[in-house]
Amino acid sequence: MSLREQFMGWKPKLWAGWRPNGVGEQKPNHYRDIARVAWANRAHPAYAYQVLTRGACDGCSLGVAGLHDWTIDGVHLCTTRLDLLELNTADAIDPLVLSDLAPLRSRTGGQLRALGRLGHPLRRRRGEAGFRRVSWDEALSVLAVGLRATTPDRTALYLTSRGITNETYYVAAKASRALGIANIDSAARVCHAPSTVGLRQTVGVAATTCSFQDVIEAPLVVLWGSNPANNQPVFMKYLYLARKRGCRVVVVNPFLEPGLARYWVPSNVESALFGTKMCDLHVPVRPGGDVALANAVLQRLIARGAVDRAFVDAHTEGFDEVVTALAGEDTDHLLALAGTDRPTLESFVDELARAGGAIHVWSMGITQHRGAADTVRGIVNLALAQGAVGRDGVGLMPIRGHSGVQGGAEMGAYATALPGGLPVDADHATALATSWGFPVPDRPGLTAPEMVEAAGRGDIDVLWMSGGNFLDVLPDPRAVEAALGRVPLRVHQDVVVTRQMFVDGDDVVLLPVATRYEQEGGGTETTTERRIVFSPEIPRRVGEARSEWRLFADVVNRVRPELRPAFSWPDNADLRREIAEVVPLYAGIETLADTGDAVQWGGRHLAAGGVFPTASGRGRFTPLQPAEPRVPAGSFVLSTRRGKQFNSMVHHQVDPITGAGRDAVFMDAADASALGVKGGARVRLRSETGSLDCTVTLARLPARTLQVHWPEGNVLIAGGPDHREPQSKVPDYNAVVTVERLGPAGPD
Ligand code: SF4
Repeated sequence: MSLREQFMGWKPKLWAGWRPNGVGEQKPNHYRDIARVAWANRAHPAYAYQVLTRGACDGCSLGVAGLHDWTIDGVHLCTTRLDLLELNTADAIDPLVLSDLAPLRSRTGGQLRALGRLGHPLRRRRGEAGFRRVSWDEALSVLAVGLRATTPDRTALYLTSRGITNETYYVAAKASRALGIANIDSAARVCHAPSTVGLRQTVGVAATTCSFQDVIEAPLVVLWGSNPANNQPVFMKYLYLARKRGCRVVVVNPFLEPGLARYWVPSNVESALFGTKMCDLHVPVRPGGDVALANAVLQRLIARGAVDRAFVDAHTEGFDEVVTALAGEDTDHLLALAGTDRPTLESFVDELARAGGAIHVWSMGITQHRGAADTVRGIVNLALAQGAVGRDGVGLMPIRGHSGVQGGAEMGAYATALPGGLPVDADHATALATSWGFPVPDRPGLTAPEMVEAAGRGDIDVLWMSGGNFLDVLPDPRAVEAALGRVPLRVHQDVVVTRQMFVDGDDVVLLPVATRYEQEGGGTETTTERRIVFSPEIPRRVGEARSEWRLFADVVNRVRPELRPAFSWPDNADLRREIAEVVPLYAGIETLADTGDAVQWGGRHLAAGGVFPTASGRGRFTPLQPAEPRVPAGSFVLSTRRGKQFNSMVHHQVDPITGAGRDAVFMDAADASALGVKGGARVRLRSETGSLDCTVTLARLPARTLQVHWPEGNVLIAGGPDHREPQSKVPDYNAVVTVERLGPAGPD
């Protein structure tokens, strides 16, 4: 945006207030944060500058190369990216620091990251006080011997999204299958796995159907259970630009996140000065009430004749069954299940009817529930009813929080998909075996939570993890720790130290790996809008850290040397050529070689013109039965929320948007009053899994609904098969809890 454009077309009616830059308001101070990050990266400022100006961001999934993206003219930068910068400029840890774990065990994840980069292969046998430095040869021999000594079904491989590139995911996916291992999974499991299931069954493809340009052109954006102000900050700039063009915004969430009510876009003069009102309507749905809400909304769209019948007739199937099912449902009962009221419902329907379609954006508030896949189907029903797929300004957007999750699943680093997102079955495994030249397992493997449960039963001999931290990410950390401790050989390859590395085991090996920027030959990521984005190598040596795509290939070469020709790429341009051949969806990846190079698979719209990639070519409606809440008298439904963090990496102890500390429990004033507590009171939450001491933070929430920060709240969340979405296996990160007051009622 030019200087002239910055000062044109201001819209005072959208301003959040008159105080310059919201001074005195509870809000982030982006300019102070930038100064803090500059100081934190003072050891290698030139390298930090190169990462920012040439690299593809290793933060969330919006995607940016250097300081520019493919949607807006101005600068694309946020504090999440800046906070992550330290990982890319830190120096290697002296291995002696890890030779005695006793003083390190009580440190937080942030304090461990502050130690620096993992720079050398390390090994710790049972009974040893800490890790000792070993050679790469010894470290890889331990892993190779371990893999050869067991069977593939007793081996599991997990990859996080920590800046991991498509190239690494692809080689990991190929390596695991070459070793006969079906048990490979990645971070996509615990975030959007239900979106994958729900979208594939209804619109035929597990990806966002539109582009970010459509957000800017949208008449209406509906945010379901997502908080981009915290998790994809530059999305707020897209929303700001959209609102200047007249876009309206509906927030469907138990809590109207302050950052979604109003936001100060730091790179825009008008918004930075006066803030921007971001929300036109808040629909306060209770956790798990979204299917009931979607049903009620569809009922009313039908009753008001606000359905696009021409689109429905020409491009969809199953609508009549849904109409019949909805006819039998009482709207008031649906509203009771949703936890909202009729005026709010009618206002929501007004917005949809007036706009004639919307971009529906959703995230973990939708997916991390037992009924998540149904909720996704409910959102799809609304989009199909309005023909809001496959054209400008509308669409379905499961927004991703990590730059690696879309590509991880599409490269086949996923228990339930082969490269290209193809189903794991005999036909697809046979076809892939022909391409790769070795047999490929033809059954799905263990998902991330199932790997840990298998470990707990003593059914896993080798657990090989690239990044990730099951202790933080999965429910019930005590059970996770016990399960990890039963695995005879664990190998953790990572850029930093995490707490799970300290769990005792017979043999634990740490492998230091390169960041995406240090990766030999650079690499690509896939953004939420399906854009495959290149990030060049920005050379830097940190200790003995190695590129992961080489590392996975080396392990296969040690365990199955006869497969060496299939794992011997001279450089990763060769690797990208292979990806383009094996995964036709990624055609064009082989042409990417510099900052800004990108190719968007599927083009701006999927299902363009109403032609869906389903067997029938039609989008599919789904009749849905909302779940009845099961909350015993005197108990509360607890869900998890995010603060100033990047996934499980907590960056700040106080969320600058809400002002809440990490130990906060968000509670409605009416519930607090009934409990005899005020804001600031200390309380103990108890679930069937554990307990957590918290400080009450008052917030407007549906009755008997609480929120605590994740991952701290995982101690209250149950694991196991009964506590996850049955098809996608995503854990249900919600719990039923009781609240007990600790000490005084709270400050007066
Ligand atoms: S919004 Fe996401 S992609 Fe953009 S700079 Fe921030 S973390 Fe990176």
